[in-house]
Amino acid sequence: MHELADAYRRGDVTPTAAAEAYLARIEKLDGRVGAYLTVTREQALAAAKAAEGRYRSKAPRGPLDGVPIALKDLLCTRGVRTTCASKILENFVPPYDATVVERLAAAGAVMLGKTNLDEFAMGSSTEHSAFQPTRNPWDLARVPGGSSGGSAAAVAADLAAGALGSDTGGSIRQPAAFCGVVGFKPTYGRVSRYGLVAFASSLDQIGPLAKDVRDAALLLGAIAGPDPHDSTSVNEPVADYAAALDGGVGGLRIGVPREYFTEGVDPDVQRSVRQAIAVLCELGATTQEISLPTTDYGIAVYYLIAPAEASSNLARYDGVKYGLRAAGAKDLIDMYGRTRAVGFGAEVKRRIMLGAYALSAGYYDAYYGRAQKVRTLVRRDFEAAFAQVDLIVAPTAPNVAFKHGEKEDPLAMYLNDVFTVPANLAGIPAVSVRCGFSAGGLPIGLQLIGKPLDEPTVLRAAYAYEQATRWLERRPNLG
Ligand code: GLN
Repeated sequence: MHELADAYRRGDVTPTAAAEAYLARIEKLDGRVGAYLTVTREQALAAAKAAEGRYRSKAPRGPLDGVPIALKDLLCTRGVRTTCASKILENFVPPYDATVVERLAAAGAVMLGKTNLDEFAMGSSTEHSAFQPTRNPWDLARVPGGSSGGSAAAVAADLAAGALGSDTGGSIRQPAAFCGVVGFKPTYGRVSRYGLVAFASSLDQIGPLAKDVRDAALLLGAIAGPDPHDSTSVNEPVADYAAALDGGVGGLRIGVPREYFTEGVDPDVQRSVRQAIAVLCELGATTQEISLPTTDYGIAVYYLIAPAEASSNLARYDGVKYGLRAAGAKDLIDMYGRTRAVGFGAEVKRRIMLGAYALSAGYYDAYYGRAQKVRTLVRRDFEAAFAQVDLIVAPTAPNVAFKHGEKEDPLAMYLNDVFTVPANLAGIPAVSVRCGFSAGGLPIGLQLIGKPLDEPTVLRAAYAYEQATRWLERRPNLG
């Protein structure tokens, strides 16, 4: 992405030529990858043309001007179908843009299209899309991770220069790890959620998926900041993330949580992450073992709170206001039932049932109320750790990309999120960067977790690591 903007500035390439090249590549390869649900060809070419004019008159808007990007299809785009990969929103065309979409457009970015996801962002493999599976560009028999699997695969396969995803329990970082790209989940509230179709409102956060750390910093800088449309957006000035990249990790205190290096973690993942920690030490950081004792409860807490919030958020899909309405109903209640029965997929229904149960009278205190209390303990674990260290490093996921159809048991799928949900529960920033490959040639993700609003330190350490290693030289081979 940043190379492209440099090339525009030098006049080596035009935004139109770049947009055309990306659109041609999508045409050629996306039949195999399945990253996109909608390609916005005409709009992309029009936006590229406008950017081209700005470069010609030596007035580009900044480092994203003319850069082709992809958006996860749960970000509302005015006039462009936004499906959430669900039958219930198959023909939904939002009348407004999400704040992040508006901000990227203001920065001159060129939207190539909308990417696939697990329906309503519920899943870790992008197999739960109502429309198509997405395949991992490193091995088409494997999943790209999820739920932002379309965005991650698009960036990995060079079907977009960068992308946005959303992360409620790992949905940016885990697909980034599986596809070998950079995925950044900002502090809760750092990026406005206005126009992001809600899954679990106390956890959802939008963030970039990018080829390298600099690109992630540039995208984050463009979308971050307070927004009057989102009362949970944080009213703090946005740091200059690109400027924060340099400076290295000298003197940085890094915590290595004991609970993230246990038996169930793939040996290839353990080895690569340990080697990455050694690299950070060579670069001048100091490490110490820390403990995050509530790690084991993360999944249980998350899979109560997220479905509870989802069951409430998804109540709006009732066939009345927008989206699908099933035909043949005998009365209003029957219409609700039929619409939701045909509109939602199995995983979404499972979440709604789990959530409604956890919130129901008589069970609320035992499940939802208890989960909220444990959530506070998870947050306190991180607070205690950050009294001793500046940054925490860990694997992003316990394993590399698995095969399509391999995790049919929902619980097995949920367990994949064990290392990503804690940062959502605590609301803190975390990034996944490529730190090696498995014996089978699949990328491995290193996770760096920071203090609230300390995106600059997370990015600086990730950048120092990336600069000191050569993992990004390897590319998936799609012909
Ligand atoms: N895999 C997790 C889930 O299924 C996280 C999803 C997400 O972050 N959107 O809920």
